[in-house]
Amino acid sequence: MKKTVSVFGSTGSVGRSTVALLTHHKERYKVEILTANQNVDLLAAHSIALKAKYAVIADETKLDSLRDALSGHETEAMAGRQALLDMASHSVDWVMMAIVGLAGLEPLFQAIPNGNVVAIANKEPLVSAGALLMSRAQRYGTTILPVDSEHNAIFQVFEKENKNAIEKIILTASGGPFRTWSAEQIACATPKQAVAHPNWSMGAKISVDSASMMNKGLEVIEAHHLFGMSADQIDVIIHPQSIIHSMVQYCDGSVLAQMGAPDMSTPIANALGYPDRLETCGQKLDIQTLSNLSFERPDFEKFPALRLSYDALRAQGNAPVILNAANEVAVESFLMSQIPFPAMMECVEEALSKNYTHCTSTLEDIVDLDQSVRTDTEVFIQKISSHFKKAG
Ligand code: NAD
Ligand code: MG
Repeated sequence: MKKTVSVFGSTGSVGRSTVALLTHHKERYKVEILTANQNVDLLAAHSIALKAKYAVIADETKLDSLRDALSGHETEAMAGRQALLDMASHSVDWVMMAIVGLAGLEPLFQAIPNGNVVAIANKEPLVSAGALLMSRAQRYGTTILPVDSEHNAIFQVFEKENKNAIEKIILTASGGPFRTWSAEQIACATPKQAVAHPNWSMGAKISVDSASMMNKGLEVIEAHHLFGMSADQIDVIIHPQSIIHSMVQYCDGSVLAQMGAPDMSTPIANALGYPDRLETCGQKLDIQTLSNLSFERPDFEKFPALRLSYDALRAQGNAPVILNAANEVAVESFLMSQIPFPAMMECVEEALSKNYTHCTSTLEDIVDLDQSVRTDTEVFIQKISSHFKKAG
């Protein structure tokens, strides 16, 4: 029997790697739903190639072009945010959540009761609503599989039955494109330089987050929710080669690491095949070619995002929602060249310093707080960007 699968965000970087694996193993999987935000051509091409039952484009204005692109094929076209949410409730054996940003929270929330296995690449919902999502998965008996390469690495070497013997988990970070840059150079970094990651090919948002190290900060909070470890039990180490994807340190002195090529096909194949091992169609690591694996401590001064994320995790309450929302808006503004690189963390700091009294016990609370922070951050950006225009 073929496993039924859906991919939310199938046209993105993680989505494309997932589609490549599904194409490689066509005989094992039956594709139910593929979704995208705006990229009609790629969504249609994937849907036709994989004979998907439904293709959903979130941008409602693109329904006609999606219908045209799919005419004569068996895939049914749908459009709009509501269609995306309705389709997330569709029951499947395995679903990949690979939308970028908090836009993926509601689809993920809907998917949990209806998917036997939910593979999560989309880290922002875990940062903002991790407790809610993990308890929902527990309530419905849904298996959550981490796809973020670090968390997938930890998942592979984390002995649940020996959890009490785990001293800490160690997330590796490449250090991003600005690892060796001075603070003065980083201050003048352009969007093009920020998205040019040395090891990984990824979407624009996560690439900027990697350059600011906010990606690692978000991953610390993500790890807290996925593995139930406190901030003190989660370390970050810079490992520029991106070969060791993360480690777990046990009380007997053992440190278990997962290694692989810097290619998301491996964690995706791990999640798709789980609990079996599935042949990857991506790169494999040739250990004979490695001559040097190096490690450095992260620089919390040059990359304040890490400190802000640890502080937000320790503060608990609504701080992670605020951190994530302000960061998403700031990254978008930086990508549009409205603010310079270091101003992104000014936005996050400004948001965290405000007294938001919203609680975060329900999905509605979280979405509400996220919206308020976005609006306030946009106002803050308008204020500071006019200052930058004058200075420029
Ligand atoms: P991407 O920008 O390449 O793709 C994002 C996908 O989400 C696209 O299919 C896009 O159409 C869809 N999308 C965007 N906004 C949407 C909206 N408002 N509604 C519905 N769909 C929307 O992003 P990516 O690099 O593939 O990253 C996806 C997620 O996975 C992110 O949360 C990222 O942090 C995480 N992740 C990515 C990588 C990587 O290597 N790219 C690694 C680890 C984790
Ligand atoms: Mg990662």
